[in-house]
This record gives sequence, structure tokens and C-alpha cells, in this order.
Amino acid sequence: MSNKSKLDNDVKFRPNYKWPKEGTEKMCPKLNEPLQLQKNLPQFYGKPWWCHFCQWQFSEDDLKSEDFCKNHD
Ligand SMILES: [Zn+2]
Repeated sequence: MSNKSKLDNDVKFRPNYKWPKEGTEKMCPKLNEPLQLQKNLPQFYGKPWWCHFCQWQFSEDDLKSEDFCKNHD
């Protein structure tokens, strides 16, 4: 039980991104190129999706936002 609460505390230091299932495919909202899905590793603090072309990270919420393409240029 104490181990679990320690784990929960540690997890709070990581941004709480929703992680897609492995094998999910998404396109870059800007260039319409396939995004690379990062591995959900404990030491990885970035967002799940990476675009090689834009050199930009995306979260699931970023991809849902219609304004997102206008916000990053
Ligand atoms: Zn892109």
C-alpha cells in the first residue's frame, strides 16, 4: 500500500498525457504527414506524438484542437 502511494506521487511529476494505444496512427495536422508515436517510458517526459517534419511534439488534445494548426508556425 505504501509502495503504491509513493508511485502515485512520483507519477505526478510527469505531465499526465493521455497515451494512445501502440499501433495507432495519426497525421500531422499541419503537413498531413504521419506522426511518430513515442514509447510511453517512465523517463520520457514529452508528448506522445512527434512530427519529424515540423520537429514538434503533439499530445492527443493538441491533435483534437482545431486552433492548433494556427497556433504553431
Ligand atoms: Zn508536422
